[in-house]
Amino acid sequence: MSASVAVLGATGSVGTSALDVIGRHPDKFRVTALTANANFEAMRAQCAAFSPDCAVMAEPAAAKQLQNDLAAGGTQVRGGAEALCEAAAAADIVVCGIVGAAGLRPTLAAVRAGKKVLIANKEPLVMLGAHIMREARAHGASVIPLDSEHNAIFQCLPDGGAKINGGGARQAGVAKIWLTGSGGPFRKLPPDEFAKVTPAQARAHPTWEMGPKISVDSATMMNKGLELIEACALFSLDADDVEIVVHPQSVIHSMVEYVDGSILAQLGSPDMRVPIAGALGWPRRIDSGARRLNLLECARFDFEAPDLARFPCIGLARAAARDGGVMPAAMNAANEIAVAEFLKGALTFDKIPRVVEGVMERTEAGRGCDLESALAADARARKLGAELAAA
Ligand code: NDP
Repeated sequence: MSASVAVLGATGSVGTSALDVIGRHPDKFRVTALTANANFEAMRAQCAAFSPDCAVMAEPAAAKQLQNDLAAGGTQVRGGAEALCEAAAAADIVVCGIVGAAGLRPTLAAVRAGKKVLIANKEPLVMLGAHIMREARAHGASVIPLDSEHNAIFQCLPDGGAKINGGGARQAGVAKIWLTGSGGPFRKLPPDEFAKVTPAQARAHPTWEMGPKISVDSATMMNKGLELIEACALFSLDADDVEIVVHPQSVIHSMVEYVDGSILAQLGSPDMRVPIAGALGWPRRIDSGARRLNLLECARFDFEAPDLARFPCIGLARAAARDGGVMPAAMNAANEIAVAEFLKGALTFDKIPRVVEGVMERTEAGRGCDLESALAADARARKLGAELAAA
């Protein structure tokens, strides 16, 4: 029997890649729910292709529009945040492809419903990762990371990553995690030119095609910082257990170093369909549709230490991970605001880390972090971040 799948953030980069893989395996998967924010035109096309039972638009006006378009079909159209959470709790497999903190409640809903939860949406894991993983254990959910780095680590851990839900990588003899990153489009750009960087330049990633927010995060290298915190949550590690290494070819997606000195790596084309297929099929392997890697074509692997002065977001994220409490949630929210302002043309590229740092300086980490305190820190940091961005 085929498994039912809900794709959250279906109209985005991760969502469309997930639907591409799912569409190759009609015998294994059946799409029962699709969700998006406002793009009802893309959603209408996806509903025509996959005939889900339910389509949810977070924006009520977009839901109304979609409802008009699909009036005669068999897809029930719903709108709003509550419907999003219900869709996330109703399928066997849930693909979390929403961007930003907006994915927090749907991710929690999927985890609390004990589903197989495939998470690309890293911001909720940054905000409240330890809590999400605790909830997963309590409700018997399996969390499988889709972020290519964390999916690589998942694959390099024993037991197909089962340790993740059972209490961490350390018991498996893991000494260190090596998170690889391409270094983004500005790896070699002189820092005094950062102020002139345009949104179009920042969105042009050298090796991956992704949505606007993560592309800018890759350009500031905040993406590696977010991934560091994400790795700590997923694999029960401390910030100092995770190293970041620049690997411009983006072929080695991350590595796990064990106490015996072995280092295991996962390699593949830079195509999100590879980790998505690995996670959808897990523990089996299924076709992803991605181009197979030709090792002779990519005969050279380079590694270099990240330039922490050029990319201060890495240090800010490491500091937030060490501080703990609500600091990662505040840092994440400040970054979301700064990136949105940059994409609107209201903030220069070089100011993104300054807004994040300014918010962090004005935030008390406190001890622990639950849903309520994470949401409060998020709201406060957004307000503060907007003020600093406008100053
Ligand atoms: P996109 O911007 O391409 O897509 C985002 C999706 O989320 C869209 O479907 C969008 O709907 C929906 N969405 C946006 N805001 C809301 C909201 N407030 N409520 C509900 N839905 C919303 O993002 P990506 O696919 O690039 O990234 C998604 C997540 O995956 C991010 O967290 C990113 O960091 C992570 N990730 C992405 C990778 C990639 O290759 N793209 C790789 C690894 C991780 P609409 O179209 O209507 O706006």
